[in-house]
Amino acid sequence: MNEISDIGRSAALANIACTNAVAVSRPILKQRGQREVFCGLTGIVWLHRRIQDAFFLVVGSRTCAHLLQSAAGVMIFAEPRFATAIIDERDLAGIADANEELDRVVTRLIERRPDIKLLFLVGSCPSEVIKLDLSRAAIRLNNRFAATPRVLAYSGSGIETTFTEGEDACLASLVPTLPATDTTTLMVVGTLAEIVEDQFRRYFAALGIENVGFLPPRRAADMPPVGPNTKYLLAQPFLANTALDLERRGATRIPAPFPLGVEGTTAWFEAAARECGISAAKTSEVLAAPAARAKESLAQARATLANKKIFFFPDSQLEIPMARFLSRELGMVLTEVGTPFLHRDHLAEELTLLPETAFLSEGQDVDRQLDRCRAEKPDMVVCGMGLANPLEAEGFTTKWSIELVFTPVQGFEQAADLAELFARPLRRRAALKV
Ligand code: SF4
Repeated sequence: MNEISDIGRSAALANIACTNAVAVSRPILKQRGQREVFCGLTGIVWLHRRIQDAFFLVVGSRTCAHLLQSAAGVMIFAEPRFATAIIDERDLAGIADANEELDRVVTRLIERRPDIKLLFLVGSCPSEVIKLDLSRAAIRLNNRFAATPRVLAYSGSGIETTFTEGEDACLASLVPTLPATDTTTLMVVGTLAEIVEDQFRRYFAALGIENVGFLPPRRAADMPPVGPNTKYLLAQPFLANTALDLERRGATRIPAPFPLGVEGTTAWFEAAARECGISAAKTSEVLAAPAARAKESLAQARATLANKKIFFFPDSQLEIPMARFLSRELGMVLTEVGTPFLHRDHLAEELTLLPETAFLSEGQDVDRQLDRCRAEKPDMVVCGMGLANPLEAEGFTTKWSIELVFTPVQGFEQAADLAELFARPLRRRAALKV
């Protein structure tokens, strides 16, 4: 991948025109300025719904607690599955022993909640500032509770992570705890809604692929085994560290686009089927009908979205697969596709499918990017919540990228729902126009 220093769009475009047309070596504007993204704590909002007997204890400040509450919306649970242990002024000033305080909070929590089977201590900016070592705290607490529940630690701090990287850090913390196996297994890696997991399991079974595990699983006791005969398929594009850790345990990644839209889902299953020695005829027999139905279901959204210009600010790392789906299956015109980080290997299959006219950027320099966005006058802007309101006030139609992570969007059956997430705001704005 060629790199372009942080220059204006016109100069970057001039560079694009004279570079290699092969998609994976296409140029990318690299930016290292101020960025507007959530921190990795946000991942707790979808992770706690997925692993139903886990608990996420953020060791942080009132700001962290507010972020979680507002990102999660107002939720009333009889027994919540996340909370914040507030680091107060005494801890920050070093007057209180933060480790002792933490042990006290965790002990109380575990006594009160015997249903918790997996406890994540989640680091934040304040816990990093006072250098509270949560990995050591997890070891200490595991010894104290004889690993029931198992205590793990990862960082969701804004110093270290952007919002989907919190999931990567969480899953990476799970990898060393996965049971070992020499059996041939397939692992789907990345948080999926239960409904999507159920559908995917049905397709794998119809293809004749057995021993399929999902990371993360619904329950702590169902961790998928891993070993030298494990092949894994990424279901999310933001899992660089988890992938590395799985490979350290002997697993091999199956290269594939991501299962978004009809084309991505078909290619994702085809890649798994090829790797598992399933014939092309059998694969097509299983996938042809759901793919055709899903294609048909996109017609309404396509009528709204075709030829509309879309601009992506970097936020979730889902931007490139989303852009590929919106341009190839719904006829949208890509202007800039920004991503916080670009994992060249994991995204290689996506990049070959992305139209060459799409302008790619990695990282952020928010003011410059806002200028480029205004110059493009896109019909829709995909961005974080912090940018959405000001852009709406300027007359842009926006889509919060966080919704794309919360909503079940993978697979054939969800392709139309995913398309509708983009079509609805445009229809709403059209209806409001007199
Ligand atoms: Fe803010 Fe850091 Fe807490 Fe995230 S972890 S809410 S960035 S203080």
